[in-house]
Amino acid sequence: MYQLTIKCVNSCEVCTSHYPNTVKILRELMPHVLDTDCGNYKDLPFAQEVKKTELAHLFEHILIQKMTDLKDAMGEKAIYSGLTSWDWEINPQGTFDVWISATEKDKDILDQALLEAVNVFNAVIVH
Ligand SMILES: [Zn+2]
Repeated sequence: MYQLTIKCVNSCEVCTSHYPNTVKILRELMPHVLDTDCGNYKDLPFAQEVKKTELAHLFEHILIQKMTDLKDAMGEKAIYSGLTSWDWEINPQGTFDVWISATEKDKDILDQALLEAVNVFNAVIVH
C-alpha cells in the first residue's frame, strides 16, 4: 500500500461541486474514469458520485485508472484499488489520505501515473 497525503489549502473548495465542469472535462480527457467502480456510502455509480465528492477522491480514481492504463499499454492486466480518508480532528482541515493498493514493483507505474493524473486533475480544477 502506498499512502499519499493531499492538502487542499483552500478548504472551502475541497468538493467537486465547486467545479461544475468536472464531468465535462473528464469526458473529454479520460471518459473511462467515469466507469470505474466506487465503494461510496450512497452506492452511487462514480459518474454520479463525481459530481459531489472530495477532490482527493476524484484524484484517487484518476490515479488508479492511469495506473491501469499504463499496465494495459504494457500488455499487462492489473487491478488496483484505493481509499480516500480524512480526520480533521487529527490533521489540519483540507488534509486527505489516499491509499493505493500498489506494491514496490509498481513504483515506476505509480510515478508515471502520478504525473499524468496531476495533468487531468489540474484541467478539472482550473476550469
Ligand atoms: Zn470511489
